[in-house]
Amino acid sequence: MIKIQVRTAKRKEMIDITQIISDVVKKNSVNSGICMVFVPHTTCGLTINENADPSVQADILSSTKRLVPENATYSHLEGNSDAHIQSTLVGHSILLIIEKGTIQLGTWQGVFLCEFDGPRTREVWIQILK
Ligand code: ZN
Repeated sequence: MIKIQVRTAKRKEMIDITQIISDVVKKNSVNSGICMVFVPHTTCGLTINENADPSVQADILSSTKRLVPENATYSHLEGNSDAHIQSTLVGHSILLIIEKGTIQLGTWQGVFLCEFDGPRTREVWIQILK
């Protein structure tokens, strides 16, 4: 397993980690296989979406805030229940197909770490299956 650290700068943001994952896969010289990416956290997540137009990321973040407001009534006393719920909605892992030594994504797709309770230093765990 490869562990990578990603430093986030805002409470809520999406960070494009496509190149980081792509570099790890290339270093491992895997021609064909699967790359699993996982975040061991309860207030961030991973998703695949458009990385061409940044307004898509802004819309995803504003919509998750609207779906799960920060100041609703929650039982968890730490004050970050919105982040826990948003992280569950997005999910904690993704699988990528590796072919010809590179991760396979659609033309407009990128891999994002979704921070919901930053700024923090996050770990991204990558496991390559040959
Ligand atoms: Zn909490």
